[in-house]
Amino acid sequence: TPALMWFRDDLRLSDNPALTAAAQGGRPVIALYVLDEDSAGLRDMGGAARWWLAGSLRALGAALARSKVQLVLRQGPAARVVPEVARAAGCEVVAFNRRAGRAEARVDDEVEALLEKQGCAVERHLGQLLHQPGSVRTQAGGMPRTFSAFQRSALRDRPAPLPQRAPSLTGLKTRLESEDLDSWQLEPSKPDWAGGLRESWKPGEAAAHEVMSDFIDGGLSGYAEGRDRPDQIHVSRLSPYLRFGEISPRQALAAVLHAGEAGTAPMADARKFESELYWREFSYHLLHAVPDLARRNLQANFDAFPWRECSGDLKAWRRGLTGYPIVDAGMRQLWQTGWMHNRVRMIVASFLCKHLLLHWTEGESWFWDTLVDADPANNPASWQWVAGSGADAAPYFRIFNPVLQGEKFDPKGDYVRTYVPELAHLPRNLIHKPWEAGGLELAQAGVRLGITYPRPIVDHAAARDRALRAFEHTRKDT
Ligand code: FAD
Repeated sequence: TPALMWFRDDLRLSDNPALTAAAQGGRPVIALYVLDEDSAGLRDMGGAARWWLAGSLRALGAALARSKVQLVLRQGPAARVVPEVARAAGCEVVAFNRRAGRAEARVDDEVEALLEKQGCAVERHLGQLLHQPGSVRTQAGGMPRTFSAFQRSALRDRPAPLPQRAPSLTGLKTRLESEDLDSWQLEPSKPDWAGGLRESWKPGEAAAHEVMSDFIDGGLSGYAEGRDRPDQIHVSRLSPYLRFGEISPRQALAAVLHAGEAGTAPMADARKFESELYWREFSYHLLHAVPDLARRNLQANFDAFPWRECSGDLKAWRRGLTGYPIVDAGMRQLWQTGWMHNRVRMIVASFLCKHLLLHWTEGESWFWDTLVDADPANNPASWQWVAGSGADAAPYFRIFNPVLQGEKFDPKGDYVRTYVPELAHLPRNLIHKPWEAGGLELAQAGVRLGITYPRPIVDHAAARDRALRAFEHTRKDT
C-alpha cells in the first residue's frame, strides 16, 4: 500500500526524513501539499512568501513528476483534507516533518488522531531544525534564554551533520483529484508587483543548491567580517530556501563545514555561518516555548513602553522616504527584491522602533508581508531583539546612528547608489548625509532636497534623546 507524504515547510526531496520514511522499502508515495488558511491559530502567509511558495511548489511538482510521483494540491483545513486524501489513496502510513509553532503542532495532533482512527499510522520526523524544539535545556531544565547559553548547550549534543540523499521514489498508477496551483492565486496579477522578485530569485530545491555552492565558491571566505557589508556579496541569500525547506539546515551546515575542513574556506568563516544557523535554531526554539512571539513582548517591562502612533512616519519608513539614505536603501531593496541584507534589517528596525518610536509589531507585519523569507520564528524574534523586548536583546540604549552605520558598512555608498538612485551622483563623503551638502554640491549631483529626495523626517540627536526618555519612563513604570 502507498504512503502519503505531507509536505509543509520542507519542499525538497533530499535530506527529507519524512519523505525517506514514506518511501521505505520501495513503497509507492503520494505527495500532498495543503494550503490551509482555515485551521485556528495559523498565521496567513504574506504576499512575497505566497509568491515564493507558488514557485517552490511548481519546482517540487516537477521534481516529483520525474519519478512519476503526483503532487496533490488541496486547499482547506488540514484535519479534513489529509485524512480524506489518505483514504482516497488507500494509504496506511502518513509521514511529515514536525513544525515548531504551537498552533501548527495542534493541527498536526488533530490530524494524527483522525488518521489513527481510520487505521493509518503516522510518522513524524525532525526535518527543519538541527535539534528537536524543547530538547535544548539549561541544567535547571528550562530553555536557555541567552543565545550563547543556547548554542553551548545545543552543541554539547551536536547532531552528526550527515544529510540523507533523496530516496528513490515510485508513484501510483492512479491519479488523485488535485487543484490547479494557478487557482490558488498565490502570485499577484492586478497589479503584478512581483517583477523584481522574479528578477532576483529562482525558488526550488535545485536553485537552493546552486545558491549554496555559489556561496561556498564565493562569499564564504571572509564571511565572518564581510557579512556586515551590504555593498558586498558575503552572505549566502539562502534564507527563503531555508524558510521553505528547499534546503535543510543540516545540508547547509554540512556543506559549509566540509568547505572549512577541505580548506576551501577558512574554518572561522564556516563556524560563523554555523553560529548564524544557530540563531535560526534559537528563534525556532523560542517560538516553540512562546507561541505568541509575534504579538507579546518577551520582556514584560516593555508592555508599558510609550510607543507612538503616526501613520505618516510609518508610511515614510515603508516607502523608503525617511531622508536617511541607508534606511531608505534597505526599505527599497525589500520592496523591489523581497529581501534585505541583515545589517540593514537591523538598521531599519532600530530606526522604526527607536527613532520613530513606532511599535515593533508594525515593522514585523510589514516584513511579514514583503519578505520572501518571512519566517514565523526569525522575523518576530529578530524584531524583538532589535526593539529591546526580546530574548537576549540588544540593550535598548544602544541606538544606531544611521549615518555612522552607513559610513561604516557601506563606505563608498554603493549600496545606497543602487537602491536610492536619486542620490547616485553625490560624493561618498555626503552620500549618507545629503543634508550636509552645500547648494553647489547638491546642484552638481542633481539633488533637490525636499523635492527629489526628502529631508530627514526626524533629527537623529533629538530622536535619540526622545527614545532614551521613553525607555526611562518604562523602567520607572515597572
Ligand atoms: P546568511 O548570513 O547567509 O545566514 C545563513 C542563514 O542563517 C540565514 O539564511 C538564516 O536562516 C540564518 N540566519 C542568519 N542570520 C540570522 C539571524 N540574525 N537570526 C536568525 N537566523 C539567521 N531571517 C529570516 O530568515 N526570516 C525573517 O523573516 C527575518 N526577519 C528579520 C527581521 C529583522 C528585523 C532582523 C534584524 C533580522 C531578520 N532575519 C530574518 C534574520 C537575518 O536578517 C536573515 O536570516 C538573513 O539576512 C538572511 O540572509 P542570508 O540567508 O544571506 O544570511
